Amino acid sequence: MMSVIPIPAFSDNYIWLLQQDNSAEVAVVDPGDVRPVIDYLEREELHLTTVLVTHHHHDHTGGLAELAQRYSPRIIGPENPQIKDIVERVGEGDACRVLGRRFEVMAVPGHTLDHIAFFAAGTPSLLFCGDTLFCGGCGRLFEGTPEQMYQSLTRLATLPEDTMVFAAHEYTLANLRFAQAADPDNPARDRHFQECQRARELNRATLPSTIGRERQINPFLRVTDKRVQETASAQGQSDTPLATFTTLRAWKDNF
Ligand SMILES: [Zn+2]
Repeated sequence: MMSVIPIPAFSDNYIWLLQQDNSAEVAVVDPGDVRPVIDYLEREELHLTTVLVTHHHHDHTGGLAELAQRYSPRIIGPENPQIKDIVERVGEGDACRVLGRRFEVMAVPGHTLDHIAFFAAGTPSLLFCGDTLFCGGCGRLFEGTPEQMYQSLTRLATLPEDTMVFAAHEYTLANLRFAQAADPDNPARDRHFQECQRARELNRATLPSTIGRERQINPFLRVTDKRVQETASAQGQSDTPLATFTTLRAWKDNF
């Protein structure tokens, strides 16, 4: 059984820590900061053997150099030479074994061009998707086109419904406030919003989500829905799913 624990970093990042059957050997995903990771490893007497990296942004990679020096883990990440310290460069269609579990690599450009996601099939399946898919939202388009991001999200949405979605930021409440505007008539989303508000009052993570839930509540995965298209039409083009996605993404940037 793989457990996945959030290590909070900066103001709203999560560095996910993976541990198989209480083994002392663990992995982390996107260690942007080194202090919270070292503190956790030392407190729990764990040894870092593997690091997964989803994209080059500093809040996902800032801890790599020091972790490399201290623990010499396998650091697996995108084929982007800008990210130093990666020892295994992977892309679309590659697979890697982490703590005994097989992870498939998916190229998911949009937020950045080098962005990849790690997916482990199983019960349940696990998805580490960095800044591509969030609970109730998606990443900003810093480098890619709306079409690239739309394709990336469409592929993630086809993963099994019970796939647990480990996104890299606690953006859920802001995302769901936007979702209320973009997709007003959605009782499942309203219920989930209330649950997430309670979780945040208790300082708990609202993640992981699941692919099934995101398909119900995330407006960026609901751009084929007539009502979402209608709402988007007041903000811009919405005659196709891609146009609706493009309009929602631009609207959210200024929301
Ligand atoms: Zn990013």
